[in-house]
Amino acid sequence: MGKLCNQACQHCHVEAGPQRTENMELTTVEACLRLARDAKIAVVDITGGAPELNPHFRYFVSELSHCGVQVIDRCNLTVLWEPGQQDTAEFLASHEVRIIASLPCYSEANVRKQRGSGVFDKSIRALQRLNELGYGKGALVLDLVYNPTGAFLPPEQSALETTYKKRLREDFGIHFNRLFTLTNMPIKRFAQTLIRQGAYDEYLDRLTQAFNPSSVDGLMCRDLISVGYDGTLYDCDFNQMLEIPLAAQAKTIFELDYKSLEGAPIATNRHCFGCTAGSGSSCTGALA
Ligand code: SF4
Ligand code: SF4
Repeated sequence: MGKLCNQACQHCHVEAGPQRTENMELTTVEACLRLARDAKIAVVDITGGAPELNPHFRYFVSELSHCGVQVIDRCNLTVLWEPGQQDTAEFLASHEVRIIASLPCYSEANVRKQRGSGVFDKSIRALQRLNELGYGKGALVLDLVYNPTGAFLPPEQSALETTYKKRLREDFGIHFNRLFTLTNMPIKRFAQTLIRQGAYDEYLDRLTQAFNPSSVDGLMCRDLISVGYDGTLYDCDFNQMLEIPLAAQAKTIFELDYKSLEGAPIATNRHCFGCTAGSGSSCTGALA
């Protein structure tokens, strides 16, 4: 829904931050709603930036939810403490929105390194608030996302989930549903960090060497379409940030005939090794 975010994380592939002004406008939101209805879209996965900061976020969620679409909010947690967001957690709960929240570690030091000081404390308080509303314990789903703090592949997902659950429960009384491990993509802000450290080529080689053919069937670009804040279409969120247009014919949501997407080619490039390395990586974690 845009690139505006209350944070500016080191690994952010969107290069989102508080100064960004790109935000999805109402006409584009309406086009997304039309597509969701016409194509009977099952899941709309909303991300940013911090999508909750978009003025049309609540309208979008409410309309989707009225149509019976499953809505996912990719929430950075700290946004729930921003001015004007005091009741966002309640809003999400009342619309049964599934929350996928980023928390790159259960330790304060690692989160500070990647996301800045104060983020860990706010994230923990947000998770506790979401637990109070029923998230992570009952019908309301709260998943967490881990990504490495450097140029290495994520550890095995289920083992890390066990450790996360133990540490967050014992240290903070927090419960959640599933942990998704994501590989850091060598693009945008993370790529610039690697280049500054002279580690870009080494990381690309690591990803390429770790290519896992069994991850390919589950790649997220095979069954999703990514809509940019201005309505431009892409094969995935990473291609969106690299401005690699949709391989199929339509270029924007305003001209899309969704039936033309069936079996259409997907635009790939070298960064795709970030999705196919090791256990694979997608918007819902490991693939293989
Ligand atoms: S990684 Fe998420 S929370 Fe961090 S700057 Fe990017 S969009 Fe914002
Ligand atoms: S980066 Fe490449 S492999 Fe990964 S989802 Fe996008 S198009 Fe598919």
